Amino acid sequence: MEIAIIGGGIGGLTTALGLKQCGKAVTVYEGAPEIKPVGAGIIMANNAMQVFEKLGIRNRVENAGCKISRIKITDVRLNTLSETELTPFENKYGVYNVAIHRADLQKILASEIGFEHIKLSKRLVRIEQENDFKLIFEDGTSANTDVIIGADGIKSVVRNELFKTGKIRDTKQRCWRGVSELDPTSRFDHEAFESWGKGKRFGFTKIAENSIYWYAVINESLMNEHADIIGLFSEFHPEIINMIAGTPKNNVIFSDIIDLAPIHQWQHGKVCLVGDAAHATTPNMGQGACQAIEDAYIIGKLFGQEKSPQEVFTQYEALRKKKAHFIVNTSWRLGKVAHYQNSVAVWFRNTLMRAIPQSVSKKQLNKVFDIDYT
Ligand SMILES: Cc1cc2nc3c(=O)[nH]c(=O)nc-3n(C[C@H](O)[C@H](O)[C@H](O)COP(=O)(O)OP(=O)(O)OC[C@H]3O[C@@H](n4cnc5c(N)ncnc54)[C@H](O)[C@@H]3O)c2cc1C
Repeated sequence: MEIAIIGGGIGGLTTALGLKQCGKAVTVYEGAPEIKPVGAGIIMANNAMQVFEKLGIRNRVENAGCKISRIKITDVRLNTLSETELTPFENKYGVYNVAIHRADLQKILASEIGFEHIKLSKRLVRIEQENDFKLIFEDGTSANTDVIIGADGIKSVVRNELFKTGKIRDTKQRCWRGVSELDPTSRFDHEAFESWGKGKRFGFTKIAENSIYWYAVINESLMNEHADIIGLFSEFHPEIINMIAGTPKNNVIFSDIIDLAPIHQWQHGKVCLVGDAAHATTPNMGQGACQAIEDAYIIGKLFGQEKSPQEVFTQYEALRKKKAHFIVNTSWRLGKVAHYQNSVAVWFRNTLMRAIPQSVSKKQLNKVFDIDYT
């Protein structure tokens, strides 16, 4: 049985690794000419690291990145509004949250799969279906396969071709991401920060010695075509400004913050969707890729039990949908609160953030980090 995975992002590569480890013949077809990650850094939360532990790559990921043991929400001057300790989860699950450069993570995944299983410059444009599937690529070539896993992101061709569904929602928030090579002060060690302002926020965390990954998000209505990022975030702490200033301009990535309105069909017969193709979320909970990694874990686990693809995909959808949609919906709401523009609403929000007991965020994180699907 030949399994084709369309898309060599974090979701597709992790799925390929899970399938390879249970002895399945798998080929990844990636549209880009190289495994080139879009985005600067990424946080692999505890749930993703638990999967990496099971796949045997936890140490490689941990060693290539920086551990995070505390998450701080602050105001624009870096005064703490709320603080979440991750140590209880480290003790419970035996793994850390890890911030890593996306390129390093994808390099680890690709090398574990073996480059001979990854076909580059193979952009899928069409699927024909007879006894098996015929994948037609942009370069005029084609390939036959028995099973398709669509890991081709929020604008998935597999989803559009075979499921004919998926409404992309625009949050009207815009985002820049970068990696600053400034020498960060050690006070940022093992912490992830998010500074909330009025209709804008700035997050950052160390991903290696001497490099900090940062993202800056702003309501579209506050954007001015002439203002640069520093101008737009001028009221933020000087250390934040230094991070932006210390990043080469052509290494800064700009994107719209969008998601996929929850869809209820992720599979049909011998085809299924994983990661952003099935349940793209806004990045407010830092869970998009982590959820793709959980998909990969469940699919690998079910194939390892020698079930048919139809059984695997039906059970995968039933097991994963509730949690993935919880993330999409909670993250969407969180994004609205973090971007209040009105001064009174911001004051009220910040006061409330200071008052929320740790037990509340702990309860929510318990739900997010738990990967026990039995
Ligand atoms: C600002 C921001 C910050 C984020 N931070 C985090 C974070 O800290 N933690 C986290 O877990 N998540 C985070 N995310 C979300 C995360 O980036 C995504 O959820 C994740 O990358 C999804 O992985 P994927 O493999 O499903 O899709 P993608 O990463 O979109 O990969 C899809 C792959 O398919 C390929 N492809 C597309 N179309 C075709 C085609 N037709 N044929 C062949 N190949 C194709 C693409 O080239 C790409 O390589 C963030 C997102 C944003 C926007």
